[in-house]
Amino acid sequence: MKIIMLGAPGAGKGTQAKRIAEKFGIPHISTGDIFRANIKNGTELGNKAKVYMDQGLLVPDELVVDLVVDRLKQADCEKGYILDGFPRTIPQAEALDAALLAIGEKVDYAINVEVADNYIVERMSGRRACLNCGATYHLVNIPTKVEGICDVCGSEIVLREDDKPETVLKRLEVYHDQTQPLIDYYNKQGILKEVDGRKTMSDTFEDILKILD
Ligand code: AMP
Repeated sequence: MKIIMLGAPGAGKGTQAKRIAEKFGIPHISTGDIFRANIKNGTELGNKAKVYMDQGLLVPDELVVDLVVDRLKQADCEKGYILDGFPRTIPQAEALDAALLAIGEKVDYAINVEVADNYIVERMSGRRACLNCGATYHLVNIPTKVEGICDVCGSEIVLREDDKPETVLKRLEVYHDQTQPLIDYYNKQGILKEVDGRKTMSDTFEDILKILD
């Protein structure tokens, strides 16, 4: 099962992707998480990516594509995977299709989590993240057990630099410009599925399960 999650930043695609991965026992591959881990570890890739991420811009395709294609060759991807945050541009989607075609495979579903921009800005301002382990929360929708403290590792949770309102607006602009065309791209391939991301997390998840069943 090879699934791509599409949707604007803050649409909830990461949360849904994690749940799908758990349910089906396939890896959840988030390019955003990979970059954040690299930033935390001070790698060369992390240092390069941070410059773009902090401004709400996309990391250049050449820094992303090989990273993902290599990751997909690992043994845990044999039964499938869920890609979250990749592809984000048409060239990335074409590179993925070409890499899969070379081994006689293809993407099964592209699930678009649909949420209007005005909801996104509101939602993102409540988002909090643990910079230590990468867990994400929401002040109202996914609160931590102890206020301000990560449930997983006990570190302090913060508003990520790229979730600040001014950066969110830039990320939305970039999304409409560079990522939204993927909806049409996968629609033409006949594998696009749309779900309403304004429902509760569980209801959206149920809708996704119906599609995958
Ligand atoms: P995310 O956690 O998926 O929202 O990603 C956070 C940031 O990482 C994005 O705003 C981009 O700067 C960068 N990023 C993640 N995935 C990609 C990708 N596939 N292509 C380019 N930049 C990416």
